[in-house]
Amino acid sequence: MLTDLPRREVEKLWGKWYTNKGTCDAYDWFRPKRERKLWHRAVWNAFVPPKFSFTTWQALKGRLPTRDRLGYLGIDQHCPLCQTHPESADHLFFKCDKTRKVWKEIKTWLGMRRIITTIPSAIKWMAKERSGVAAIRKARKLALMATVNLMWRARNALIFDQTPFDPKHIVFEVKKVTYVVLYSLYPHEIVQQHLGE
Ligand SMILES: [Zn+2]
Repeated sequence: MLTDLPRREVEKLWGKWYTNKGTCDAYDWFRPKRERKLWHRAVWNAFVPPKFSFTTWQALKGRLPTRDRLGYLGIDQHCPLCQTHPESADHLFFKCDKTRKVWKEIKTWLGMRRIITTIPSAIKWMAKERSGVAAIRKARKLALMATVNLMWRARNALIFDQTPFDPKHIVFEVKKVTYVVLYSLYPHEIVQQHLGE
């Protein structure tokens, strides 16, 4: 017989289990506290609009509903962009042919040589990035998280509204938001000098 008390207990356990499972999925989430703090600082920056940080943070914690996590719902697990590989956060954001085109342009634009293939490696890079002047470092962090956010939105628009995924449009939007933020922080000449076309 399930009285009220055990039911609450079960719910509590379920909640705990679910939370733990979520963090288990999350790559290297079980890290020393010091490192987690560092990652938190890398993602949540005052100059990055929170909506951009949010997707990266969700992905890092293994909370984005990518298709590899929805198998139990009987959903097709193929990446909606390439239809070839299973969709995971790392595939979608870094390894898919469609999104790699976006990175290629963004990285060329910002003079980034590092190869980034996973969300944790992206965060690690952001936490440790020291090269270049402050303006370009800010631009790279912002552009990285804006790219992840805009890719995620474009992926959802494709699934739910059948809007074609357009790498060029994403590159355009990333550049636009990066310029808007940079121009609000630095004199025009500084931005032009480091981020001119
Ligand atoms: Zn793909």
